[in-house]
Amino acid sequence: SLSDSLDSAFKNLRGQGKISEKNISDALREVRLALLEADVDFTVAKKFIANVKEQALGEKVMKSVKPSELIVKIFHDELTALLGGDNEPLDLTPPARIMMVGLNGAGKTTTSAKLAARLKKEGRRPLLVACDLYRPAAIDQLATLAKQIDVPVYTPDASETDLVKVAKDSLKWAEGQNGTLMIFDTAGRQEIDEKLIGELKELHNFLAPKETLLVADAATGQQAVSVANHFDEAVGITGIVLTKLDGDARGGAALSMRTITGKPIKYAGEGEKIEDFTEFHPERMAGRILDMGDVVSMVEHVADKIDEKEAMKAAERMQSGKFDFNDFLSQMKMIRSLGPLDGLLNMLPGMKKLKKQLPSDALNTDKMKHMEAIVLSMTPKERERPEIIKGTRRKRIAMGSGTSVLEVNRLLKQFGEMRKMMRSKGKMKQMMKQMGGME
Ligand code: GDP
Ligand code: MG
Repeated sequence: SLSDSLDSAFKNLRGQGKISEKNISDALREVRLALLEADVDFTVAKKFIANVKEQALGEKVMKSVKPSELIVKIFHDELTALLGGDNEPLDLTPPARIMMVGLNGAGKTTTSAKLAARLKKEGRRPLLVACDLYRPAAIDQLATLAKQIDVPVYTPDASETDLVKVAKDSLKWAEGQNGTLMIFDTAGRQEIDEKLIGELKELHNFLAPKETLLVADAATGQQAVSVANHFDEAVGITGIVLTKLDGDARGGAALSMRTITGKPIKYAGEGEKIEDFTEFHPERMAGRILDMGDVVSMVEHVADKIDEKEAMKAAERMQSGKFDFNDFLSQMKMIRSLGPLDGLLNMLPGMKKLKKQLPSDALNTDKMKHMEAIVLSMTPKERERPEIIKGTRRKRIAMGSGTSVLEVNRLLKQFGEMRKMMRSKGKMKQMMKQMGGME
């Protein structure tokens, strides 16, 4: 799937010690293939890759501590933009009318009911109108759904053939219903044809709906996009509902839809049941495609709090074996500024394993405060050269920090072990790799 291909491209990037133009290009080639395979329009894929590349090769990324993580974030942001940025709500100012259009089987009738149920939940009073005069079963289908969600529905006689008359009658009916908005379910065809379009145009002219939503089956990929264009030319659509996203592992339609039609995707159908319906949020969809959940917000969070220069300096000192208690102190401050650590670390790939290797209380914030207090009670000389901290000094530090000699001893021992580990370069490298490619 698209998620898997992206994941493998990112893994390759992370595996590289340094990020270069070459390995970014390699990764992006992989991504472009994945996009095309997911049935994303060729020009859309090309433009997308160009945008990502331009940013990924920017100075800020190349000089950062974890370029690969930043590149994932660039992907996320670009995907979000591609999918339409922010969610766009419906225009429901009175007289609020929503006309649903689309091919047969796309999910118009189901979506009409889903949308009605959702708007009802938001405190509005929707009314449903059955305007599919070609299939009597379609009228029954909407009536059944309406009953299920307890929303009033207007159903014409099975013999009725004049669509505009049905619409007129429904408006009269609505006057006695105390509704605040109307949803019109219409007929479709297997393919777009002139007769259907002519009828829909007439209905559209009569209703002058504020919203005309194209219901499109996401699983049909690029076909869904061209259908959207056709309907837009014919009646002018204001938004798109992508259905059957639950069954579409490729996700290509969603990615091309916005760019090519210029219309926002407003809702997503994710199953056959009434509840399987959500507002479409480009950012969440991007996260889902990248299959990364919280990693994005974590990267933002960390990038926000960590002073990159500071972190680089610390890493250099660690590797050169010059790490002392002053470095320790600034690292503790940095780590503490990130907030609750356990949750944060769990978001990182590979972190579970690393956590097992840390001292059991290393992530306990109370313990960390104690450790900080101990270090703060040391003299500058002691911080620089911990080996001079012997018996009386330990007692003084314990007194000054409000801890015990036992705790001071333990910290000194842990610190000694940390230093030893840092000095053996092999282990250091291993640890850094597990942290996600920081060298
Ligand atoms: P219409 O011809 O456009 O009115 O399409 P329908 O509303 O009758 O839906 C056609 C079929 O698609 C029905 O079996 C629906 O249950 C199914 N369907 C609609 N939306 C979704 C969706 O989001 N996910 C899935 N899995 N099925 C859907
Ligand atoms: Mg229908």
